[in-house]
Order: sequence, then structure tokens, then C-alpha cells
Amino acid sequence: MVSDNALLHIEKIREDFPILHQKINGQPLVYLDNAASTQKPRLVLDAITDYYQTINSNIHRGVHLLSQKATDAYELSREKVRAHLNAEKAHEIIFTRGVTESINLVASSLGKGLIKKGDEILISALEHHSNIVPWQFLCAQSGAILKVIPMNEKGELLLEAYRSLLSDKTKFVAINHVSNALGTVNPVKEMIAQAHDVGAWVLIDGAQSVPHMPVDVQALDADFYTFSAHKIYGPTGIGALYGKEHLLELLPPYQGGGEMISTVTFEESTYAGLPHKFEAGTPNIEAGVVLGTAIDYVHALGLENIAAYEQELLRYAHQKMSAFEGMEFYGTAQHKASVISFNLKGIHPYDVGVILDKLGIAVRTGHHCAQPIMDFYNIPGTIRASFAFYNTKEEVEILLKGLAKARAMLS
Ligand code: PLP
Repeated sequence: MVSDNALLHIEKIREDFPILHQKINGQPLVYLDNAASTQKPRLVLDAITDYYQTINSNIHRGVHLLSQKATDAYELSREKVRAHLNAEKAHEIIFTRGVTESINLVASSLGKGLIKKGDEILISALEHHSNIVPWQFLCAQSGAILKVIPMNEKGELLLEAYRSLLSDKTKFVAINHVSNALGTVNPVKEMIAQAHDVGAWVLIDGAQSVPHMPVDVQALDADFYTFSAHKIYGPTGIGALYGKEHLLELLPPYQGGGEMISTVTFEESTYAGLPHKFEAGTPNIEAGVVLGTAIDYVHALGLENIAAYEQELLRYAHQKMSAFEGMEFYGTAQHKASVISFNLKGIHPYDVGVILDKLGIAVRTGHHCAQPIMDFYNIPGTIRASFAFYNTKEEVEILLKGLAKARAMLS
């Protein structure tokens, strides 16, 4: 029996996700690893098969009907991403493999002459490795300096410190909208405005925001914004990078190859316009098409409804878990998305994860690709329960029972 919610019919929604109805180690699956990757609704699974059964072919360069249909479906999906982020123009949406590739694209293109020795790039203490390492590459290559916006014990960025780090040397700021490791929702609108005051451009890593709340890149005035499809109930291997048109025009291409050129001779090549300039080679066409289907699915539920329900679930889980003996929370920011990072006093997170798995409960344990956050707290890692709209209060209860078992076995 599943508790329903005034906004969403959770029991019915769960029917859309075949994978949720299986047993793991003999127990009903409780999937609480949504920050790592989400499960896919039948609509998305059917769209994958449908693509291969009806229109599969290469895009943009065929005159035959299948190629035109595949191209139209791919470009329709780009339009859906545009609408989802409220970008102004569809060609401001570049399809990438996901957030990691998007950030590498921007960092690597900036490295072709736009960032110079002594320029400063700001990231934050809350970043995923994919929003740290590409900037380290860029700094090593260009002589730019990487600076880090610090955070407090609650996992909130120190905005005073941010303001004092910003100067006319700051050329780029790259921060996440929501921390995957702690769930902190950062005040990105305010931070973007402050960066713009010193003339810096800003990239927002939206891996953990786009699946859970409405995002409007124009209202935020973000220069770049990126997300991965697999975290928004779509396929792996595809994601999108939004960039303001005039900035994308300024950036040199990322990779060379087919699709991204206008003319090629052995002496020189000229490049295609946006978005193709950044989309060299045959892309993951099926995943691109199906990303549009995943966006349709979340829109049918309503992003506002999803956000409200997940907040309700987060409050419920936090309240119940607070009463659990030995519970140590990491990340207690005032504004949080549906991620709870914690440890049980004196017990290694990995050991808890293994016992929960035996009970059919999938959580993530470890550093969550955010080692500097673990260093900040001086811990090897945390147990992370991350919720989606198909999770229930009953599953929170099952998690608590599992934790009680783990504590009894391990302490
Ligand atoms: N940034 C954040 C905040 C994430 O949570 C993740 C994935 O966990 C990434 C970046 C990397 O995303 P991907 O592996 O889809 O490229």
C-alpha cells in the first residue's frame, strides 16, 4: 500500500516504472539512489524501441525519408529542451553526452585563447568532480588560477567570501545549482548577478536541479547551464548544454569532425553555425530523441508538483531519521533538494550500504564524486538516500528498519 499525495497519484506513477516492481535479494526493491541515476518510465522505454523500429537512420545529411524523420525527431527534442529550460532559441541548446562533457566542452573551448595567465576561475566547495577537474585542466594549460568559494558546516556557501573573491580578475564562475552530495540548493540567481557585476561569465551545473524543480535560464540570466538526461528519467549518454547565443558564437569548436563543418579543404576548414559547430560526429540519436519523451513525462506530472512532493518526502524522512539513535547528518542547509547524506555513529558507510542492499534497499555510499566535501568533514564518505517522485513514505520506513538492522549487526 502506497501513500498518495494531494498533487501526485504516486501508486499510479509507480506503475509507469517496471523496474520498481522487482525483488532484489528476495526483497521488494526500494530505490533511493536517484541522485546517481533515475529509473525510466515505460513511455521512455517504449520510445527507445519505437525509434529503432520506425525511424532509425543518421540525421542532418540524408535526403531519404527516414533520415528526415529522425532529424525532425532529434530537432523536436532540442526544442523540448529549449522550452524546458526556457532558453530563447533552440540553437542555444547543444546536445552533449551529459554534464561532464558539457563542462569539458566549455572549459576546453575557453582554453583556446579566451582565458589567459593570471585570470581567475571560481568554483565552489560543493562541486562534483566533473565541475572541478576540467577547470584544473584549463588552469594548467592557460596559467589561470582556480579559487574556491568556501562553505560552512551546514553545507551552505559563504556568500560574503564569494563576494570578496570576485574581482576584475574573475573571468569565469562554475557552480552547481544543487549539490549531489549534500542536497544544498545554492542561491544561483544572486550569485550569477554578482559575477556579472565584475564581468565574469557563469556556468551552472544543473545535474541535480533540472529533474527536481522548474529552471528558467533567462530568469536566472545564466550564461551556460547543463544537465544530464539519465537523471531526469531519460537515457544515459545524452544531455544538454545551454549557452547564450553570443557566447556560443565566441567559443571555438570543441571537437572536429563531420557535422560541425561548413567547408573543408586540406589547408583549412570553416565551421557550421550553432548548434552544429559543437556537435561533431554522429550523435546518440536515439537518446536525443527520447530525452524529449522524458521531458514530456515530467511535464505531464508538473515540475511544481514534483518539487512540492519531494520536499514533503524530504521533510518526512529528515524528521523520522532525526529520531534515529547515532544518526549524523551531513548537509543541513536551509534550502535543500531531496538528498539526505548521513552516517551512523562509529560505523563505516560502506558496511551499512552492503547490509541495506541485502534488504533490497539501494542507497549510495562513498564520496559521491565530491571528495573535497568529505575532506571538509574529515570523513571517508557518507550514506546517501536520494528521493524521486516515485518514492514513498513507506519506503522511508523500510529504510529506517534497514538502518536499525545494520546498526544492530555492526555495532
Ligand atoms: N554534477 C553533479 C552535481 C552531479 O550530480 C553529476 C552526476 O552525479 C555530475 C555533475 C556528472 O553528471 P554525468 O555523469 O551525467 O555527466
